[in-house]
Amino acid sequence: MIARVALPLPRAAPFDYEVPPHLPVEVGHRVRVPFGPRRLWGIVVELREEPTFPGPLLPVEATAGPVLSPPGLELVSAVARRSFVGVGLALARLVPAPTGSRVREVEPGPKPSTLTPAQARVWAAVQTGTTDARELRRLPGGARALRELLRGGSLRPRSLPFAYREERKGIALTPHQERAVERVVAGIGREKKYLLVGPPGSGKTEVYLRAAAAALERGGSALLLAPEVSLLPQLWARAGAALGAPPAPYFGELPGGERWRTWADALAGTARAAVGTRSAIFLPLQNLGLIALDEEGEPAYKQEEMAPYYHARAVAEARAAREGAAVVLGAAAPSVESYFRAERGELELLALPERVVGSPPRVEAVPRGDEVIGPALREAMDRHLRAGGQVLLFVHRLGFYTGAVCRCRAVLRCPRCEIPLVFHLADRAFRCHACGHSVRDPQCPRCGEARFHPFGVGTERAEHEARRLFPGTTVARLDADTARDRDRILSALARGEIQVLVGAQMVGKGLDFPGITLVGVVDADGLLAAPDFRAAERAYQLLAGAAGRAGRGDQPGEVIVQTDQPDVYPIRCALQGDDRGFYAEELRYREALRYPPFMRLVRLLASGRDAEGKAEKLAKTLAGQGFEVLGPVRLFPRRGVPRAQLLVRGDEGVVEALAAVLPSLPPWLAVDPDPGWLG
Ligand code: ADP
Ligand code: ZN
Repeated sequence: MIARVALPLPRAAPFDYEVPPHLPVEVGHRVRVPFGPRRLWGIVVELREEPTFPGPLLPVEATAGPVLSPPGLELVSAVARRSFVGVGLALARLVPAPTGSRVREVEPGPKPSTLTPAQARVWAAVQTGTTDARELRRLPGGARALRELLRGGSLRPRSLPFAYREERKGIALTPHQERAVERVVAGIGREKKYLLVGPPGSGKTEVYLRAAAAALERGGSALLLAPEVSLLPQLWARAGAALGAPPAPYFGELPGGERWRTWADALAGTARAAVGTRSAIFLPLQNLGLIALDEEGEPAYKQEEMAPYYHARAVAEARAAREGAAVVLGAAAPSVESYFRAERGELELLALPERVVGSPPRVEAVPRGDEVIGPALREAMDRHLRAGGQVLLFVHRLGFYTGAVCRCRAVLRCPRCEIPLVFHLADRAFRCHACGHSVRDPQCPRCGEARFHPFGVGTERAEHEARRLFPGTTVARLDADTARDRDRILSALARGEIQVLVGAQMVGKGLDFPGITLVGVVDADGLLAAPDFRAAERAYQLLAGAAGRAGRGDQPGEVIVQTDQPDVYPIRCALQGDDRGFYAEELRYREALRYPPFMRLVRLLASGRDAEGKAEKLAKTLAGQGFEVLGPVRLFPRRGVPRAQLLVRGDEGVVEALAAVLPSLPPWLAVDPDPGWLG
């Protein structure tokens, strides 16, 4: 028997190996094979009688058992093909490696009678609330002491992925919810696709949960996706309460052992409900009945950083087509693309027009001014805090100052990536958000001086301002820099122990915290400044999401948006809740400029030596073959590596047409068939 084994090599097709008679190898198994002087683990994609390779074959050496079922394998192969990479590389990046799990969180067990000094340190730390095993291992002698205490039972591993808890509330669905659930449940097993639109608090999550319960009742499985890890604890807790058992978690930051555990349980059919971020769309859940993507318009659903590039929404639809699952795309402000497809009847539109709790907030635009928190926002914060409400301040950029300019007018930039450096108070240094390069006392590369004038508002600065203006209130910040404490912060917020939360990105959306009665958008104009054709869509989504918070019944919600451009259509429509107006205007603009969703843009990214020259040549070749080519344009380098990009515009068939003329990519070229952000 011959096994074709996909190896983790960028462009390579699978290789032939001989299967020794005693070795039980099947399609979807992870196997170890010799490769030149090395040993590599790969995945068997095919078993056949006859080799495709004419020479003598080396043997498969070992198998680690199944990691993927044949439909899963087909799915990953399709994704790899669309992204112009070998299936081996795609598998290596999308399928977790089997590993044991390491204890991540602990809780106290029986009190130990005698303790070594190191054990006593660990024990004392746990008593004062440190449950993170990584922190405990960092104490002097901590790693060993932790092992010993776990072995003796004085500490127990905490197996649940999130500390967040929620009780199941008795909920009677509204008529709109009933209808939505009914439609989605009817689509289970029929590969139906739905767009569920409703403001925050309209009960979309409840619809996903009911539909998931129906899928489980029929013996199927259900997958619930959120765009960001910060949204998972609440989703996980609510799903656990609604489905009767905690769903399996799956996301990139989950330690490898636990990722593998969830993956293996899905493959074995023992995990039937899962929650996760975009990579969870590949979880090999058996007999998949429902896939729900909450906040479907979020760019985080797109894998942009490395091949295989994929959009979780597109993969969800591909899975539905193969496995018959129903797909629900949910959003307060759907992507322009999904809105367009719903208009054309490709997605069935389900609307939840009303909030089930609270009333629509009062939304007001106020001038931005020079202060981070201007007078109107400050006054409103004061009012809400006095009344016992919680305040959410939304700031879309990280750091303290988002840039600095020298007296000679030169902007302080990363020497290797050329993007502006951001001042972070936490490290008292300027940091590059692309490569992490950090500098404490920068000198101007142009004039040699060190007199920079910092500007811009990041999350740290808003946090600092909130503390300064409201001494005595508890202010917390949730962004990429504090992501490690996310669980703790969200739990404290739910318990009312945090009065002002400063957040980036998703904190304004998706989470259901009725105690938040005021949302302040610190710099709405900054959202529009991005050089990308999706900037208006992004600004609208973020504002509509932030503006959609309901507040409590006894304390109506309020939203204050600091902007100097209240009449620009994404801002105006978001403030007025005019979704039709926004999509109509945006679609007119997209059509006039021949942008998606009317046309498809494929991104070709050249990197390395002479990236621009190579991109130039490629552009000429492709144009000569009849493709419509935009660019190339030089991009900022990444870690000193030059980059250039060109876009190919065409209809739906353009990806295949490109694949026909680019059967194998040179190593300096990457192709993203569905680029999200082009700036
Ligand atoms: P969305 O996902 O649209 O933001 P959720 O499903 O999170 O809305 O609902 C908001 C809140 O209202 C949650 O606390 C939820 O438990 C509650 N809720 C949802 N549906 C109902 C209902 N029909 N009756 C009462 N409460 C509901
Ligand atoms: Zn850099």
